[in-house]
Amino acid sequence: MARRPLTVLALAAAIVLLLSSLRPAGPGPRPPAAGARSRPLRGLAVVMDPGHGGIDSGAVAAGVQEKGVNLAIALAAARELRDFGARVVLTRHTDQAPVPRGERRYLRDRRRRAELVAETGAQLFVSVHANYVGGSGPRGPLVLWNPSANAGSRALAGAIRTSLQGALGVRVRMAPQAVLILQWARVPAVTIEAGFLSNPVERAALVRPAYQARVGTAIAVGVRSYWTARRAQDTFWRGLAWAGA
Ligand SMILES: [Zn+2]
Repeated sequence: MARRPLTVLALAAAIVLLLSSLRPAGPGPRPPAAGARSRPLRGLAVVMDPGHGGIDSGAVAAGVQEKGVNLAIALAAARELRDFGARVVLTRHTDQAPVPRGERRYLRDRRRRAELVAETGAQLFVSVHANYVGGSGPRGPLVLWNPSANAGSRALAGAIRTSLQGALGVRVRMAPQAVLILQWARVPAVTIEAGFLSNPVERAALVRPAYQARVGTAIAVGVRSYWTARRAQDTFWRGLAWAGA
């Protein structure tokens, strides 16, 4: 009895798949084109934000300034994302804050970083920081996403968390947090606290270029898995809408 409906369903699914593969790209994430295997992020633009900079050093522990660690990790992530074919816009390339001075500098600086998303047409925002607490015990990366921000933020945080966990072999937490800059970005946006500068073991790792590169690469790989999954989903739904039209 169920045989005929199942056959019809299977046929419908096959048609949808066929149509979705034939359908030309509309706005939004594009389906993979030629060379997609080596440049899977072609068509994606990411704002990569190394936290702090200039007169704002961020946390400081045993002489290590957070701003330098953030920049090194973000540059490594940017390199890898470009290798994957993405366009990367850095909020800073050097030890210079986007808004270096003036009244209410701190707030305007954060605004400026978020504004770059709309100005450059970026689809994702990724901010890199390092953590600090009073005690030396806490350690491990933490991925933050703002529950009032774009709905994709949580999935992006999850993908980066999974990637960091695999690359570093440590437990990586993720948490919702009302970070304003993530809300201002208006696209899927996360802050990665790469580790605790207050923990001596983690601090020693965070200043090593090889470790910074490993963290940066893991962030880029997380972005890649989020984006390719989202693109596959969009392609499927577009195909379904087209088939139903
Ligand atoms: Zn910070």
